[in-house]
Amino acid sequence: MLTEDSPLVKIAGKAAAPALEKNKGLRTVGDLLDFVPRRYLPPAELTDLAQLREGEEVMVIARVARATTRPMQRRKGQMLNVVLTDGRAELDVTFFSSYAHRAKLVPGVTGFFAGTVGRYRQRWQLTHPDYELFADDDDLSRVEDYRSRRIPVYSATGKIYSFKIRRMVDQALDSLDSVREPVPEEIRRSRGLLDRTRALELVHRPRVDEDPEVGLDRLRYDEALVLQTILAQRRRAAEAVPTTPRLPRTGGLLAAFDARLPFELTEGQRAVGEVLTRELALSRPMHRLLQGEVGSGKTVVALRAMLAAIDAGGQAALLAPTEVLAAQHHRSITTLLGDLAEGGMLGGSDIGTKVALLTGSQGASSRKRALLDAASGEAGIVVGTHALIQRHVQFADLALVVVDEQHRFGVEQRDALREKNARPPHLLVMTATPIPRTVAMTVFGDMETSTLSELPRGRSPVTTHVVEADKPAWVARTWQRVAEEVADGRQAYVVCPRIGDPGGAAEGAAEGAAAADSSDEEALDWDVPDDESVAGLELTGVHDMLAELRAKPELDGVRLGLLHGRLDADTREQTMRAFHAREIDVLVATTVIEVGVDVPNATVMVVVDADRFGISQLHQLRGRVGRGTAPGLCLLLTRAAGGPAAERLARVAETSDGFELARADLLFRKEGDILGARQSGRASSIRHLRLGRARDEQIIADAREDAFRIVAEDPELRRHPALAAAVAMRLDEEQAAYLEKG
Ligand code: ADP
Ligand code: MG
Repeated sequence: MLTEDSPLVKIAGKAAAPALEKNKGLRTVGDLLDFVPRRYLPPAELTDLAQLREGEEVMVIARVARATTRPMQRRKGQMLNVVLTDGRAELDVTFFSSYAHRAKLVPGVTGFFAGTVGRYRQRWQLTHPDYELFADDDDLSRVEDYRSRRIPVYSATGKIYSFKIRRMVDQALDSLDSVREPVPEEIRRSRGLLDRTRALELVHRPRVDEDPEVGLDRLRYDEALVLQTILAQRRRAAEAVPTTPRLPRTGGLLAAFDARLPFELTEGQRAVGEVLTRELALSRPMHRLLQGEVGSGKTVVALRAMLAAIDAGGQAALLAPTEVLAAQHHRSITTLLGDLAEGGMLGGSDIGTKVALLTGSQGASSRKRALLDAASGEAGIVVGTHALIQRHVQFADLALVVVDEQHRFGVEQRDALREKNARPPHLLVMTATPIPRTVAMTVFGDMETSTLSELPRGRSPVTTHVVEADKPAWVARTWQRVAEEVADGRQAYVVCPRIGDPGGAAEGAAEGAAAADSSDEEALDWDVPDDESVAGLELTGVHDMLAELRAKPELDGVRLGLLHGRLDADTREQTMRAFHAREIDVLVATTVIEVGVDVPNATVMVVVDADRFGISQLHQLRGRVGRGTAPGLCLLLTRAAGGPAAERLARVAETSDGFELARADLLFRKEGDILGARQSGRASSIRHLRLGRARDEQIIADAREDAFRIVAEDPELRRHPALAAAVAMRLDEEQAAYLEKG
């Protein structure tokens, strides 16, 4: 008997099953049913090859007569030319990126091709058509299907074509008695949800245009419910281990600090501060995410919470993603505290404290000093990078952990830090990437969130322009603007996507750049790669850029500096100091300056090869300018002409609303990337939901409400065995290992 738990081999056979598991992660029949079509082709008449017209959308069944590859003249790579025949007439097919197609489109194979007819050298042709190859002649009898209904197209893999997957799905749907129903009936009724069997039928074998979306909505709800149930259980578990309440103290360090603060806190800073003080005083560990635009003043908020922790006799740790940022935090916190940072003993009558810095590459003696201060409790605040979480770093009594710019920090690291105390420390995570509600509810769904939405007064707006790099006059104007700002006593950043070679040669690793993901097998299979217009171009490195700027007459006399991740920590620190001290006018850097760097006198940023950066990343970057009283200017240099890359840049230029951009970013990216461990430090296993989409936001919100209620009433899910099974399965999946930790 076939059930959802049956291994896929029962349907796919010994040849296909391992490939489906390896490439698509499908192990069971249930997994296969959850593997929904990438898209659907409309039912249509097949086109007669002898009757083609230019510009016409066609669908043909034809055989590959000839196939040849040849190198392209202007770009890297091989181009594939295929000649199709239906026995009477011929049609050419061209692929500019031939890699994924070469092995499939060999003479003799027959398939179904869809595309728009063009004319080239007196012949008809399709460029990058969609196609499905038929495994054997038997498939030809299914041609009738193409005429009568929407055709599901599955993401193919290797020799397993979409068409074949479709037949497996058909077989599964026909032979399963029933499918598991994870949604409690009472919820199904109140939310008006279809039953799951029906939903799968609509998704895999639609009859009318609306069917797939209707079915998918139900699958999205399922996915959301399972995720939210996991989050609800995790939240319960985190709250189950009590911690030490850290009570506020009158006349303490925090009060002294507030009294000397050189500016007035914004309304938001004050309000979040109150929430934090309240939660620190609870025996339930705080688990809070603080999000706020670049420059909204999160550091002060975090510092005040740290001071409250010290007032209560504990210590605080501040984790930064880079050494540059750790050093800067250490510097700015020390400056903000003034003589309060020269304090003596923790908890003594003297309210001052000590701020220690601990990084991976500092000298042995300063490191030893810092370790000692952390372990003895003399340092109330310990600032550091991941070096902070190494095993031999000890604290006397760690009360609060603040993680800055969390998207660079993995979950494991945070866990390791939390384990540094007998009772779990309170945790505050700060992120400058505004988090759309869908992501807040899923990726960070086990945390409470606070938002700083207003910027401190006197902040200046940043104007952003896209500069086309192939227009010499625009480029010249760009560097002229930099020169003008420098002449006005201002400073500038020039950001490049890679380091490159000091010698100026082409080799070298990219650093942190969001390079277009054109190696994605699926993209090659069915889509024209996203950034065709820039795919083959060499990325500009900081070394080359520096040399180029040195040679520019308009920048004569301008003092240039260089900053990237491969420099040793001392050099980086020195360079940042020199930039702060205005000894450097223009800093040529990689994305090491992306997060948190704060030099108010810097007013211009030029981003080179801006198309290689993601939307949110660009928004982060430009947040480095306009931090003082003078308006900021951000110039995005690009060689991308049109296409999604240019569109992304246009979005960044036209809006400064971080939330809107974060949302656009989600929609531009491929789903697989959304919860990518790289970005969020969390697992990426969202299948049906599309984060960032308004419709899915409602589904997630509904499921969240339902899941938290279910878990509150029935924490072990004893009365919901099907949901419990779905949760277990999800957790079982490889990546869910992360989810469990949070
Ligand atoms: P971010 O939220 O990007 O981390 P920072 O905490 O680095 O922002 O703050 C940016 C700058 O704004 C710092 O120089 C900080 O001292 C200053 N700042 C913070 N709060 C205020 C305020 N309420 N009024 C004026 N300046 C402030
Ligand atoms: Mg910051």
